[in-house]
Amino acid sequence: MTTTNSIPVTPVVRKAADYRTDLKPIWCPGCGDFAVLAAIQQALVALQVDPKDLAIVSGIGCSSRLPGFLHAYGLHTVHGRALPAATGLKLARPDLTVLAVGGDGDFFSIGVGHLPHAVRRDINITCIVMDNEIYGLTKGQTSPTSPQGHVTKSTPGGNPAAPLHPLALALSSGATFVARGFSSQPKQLAELIKMGMQHEGFSFIQAMSPCVTFYDTYKLYKEKVYPIPADHDVRDPDAAMRYALESERLPLGVLYHEPRPRAAAQPAPEPKPFDTAAYLARFKA
Ligand code: SF4
Repeated sequence: MTTTNSIPVTPVVRKAADYRTDLKPIWCPGCGDFAVLAAIQQALVALQVDPKDLAIVSGIGCSSRLPGFLHAYGLHTVHGRALPAATGLKLARPDLTVLAVGGDGDFFSIGVGHLPHAVRRDINITCIVMDNEIYGLTKGQTSPTSPQGHVTKSTPGGNPAAPLHPLALALSSGATFVARGFSSQPKQLAELIKMGMQHEGFSFIQAMSPCVTFYDTYKLYKEKVYPIPADHDVRDPDAAMRYALESERLPLGVLYHEPRPRAAAQPAPEPKPFDTAAYLARFKA
């Protein structure tokens, strides 16, 4: 217990419940996104982030509903645009912890053009992609990470395209923190998210998060996942890329981490009163 002006002050200890909202997640029972939400809340507990210092930004999709269920400032933006919105928010409010979340359709299809540039700018945002290799919200179309040959409503003859490698995309763009977790291993996923939030710069975390309704990959992933060996050098980009390009198996853990010196905490900018007279004068000239 500490004291301020002789008044005893009990430090606030935040629990997972402090990061919940009154809204009940409306995902299908068994959806992997429940575990990702819980892992984010565990990471926030570990770092004791004050909800007033936290913002979460999403695009469109099942997983992009997540800001509604996390006690923080939330922006549920438009399809594929979580990263530009998160970038603008972080630039305007560098004092906030900013998370950008969404799914594989959102980040790797319509929004894919934003990812390499957000990575290059290395703005201090934690990007968590809930990858289920399918479009869930629109009821089961092929996504950029669906396997080749996969039969869906949009590819009844089998997906003709090879899947995109999200981790390789992040690495080749110059990401300084790249990791993969799995919703069935929530403790590790929470730790990876925590590490991403502690990383000074852009952190990219692929969370394998099965869609039980349109492409249930739990059994497949459980057979394919394995932990990245403890002796992996996370500063070795070639080794990281080899893990990123594996397709027969799914390595879990940190692939690449290039620690950055932590910048001094930046205060929130002073709010400037809006000059209505000056603004209106522009239209009179
Ligand atoms: Fe989750 Fe799939 Fe249901 Fe969407 S459709 S909530 S991704 S299980």
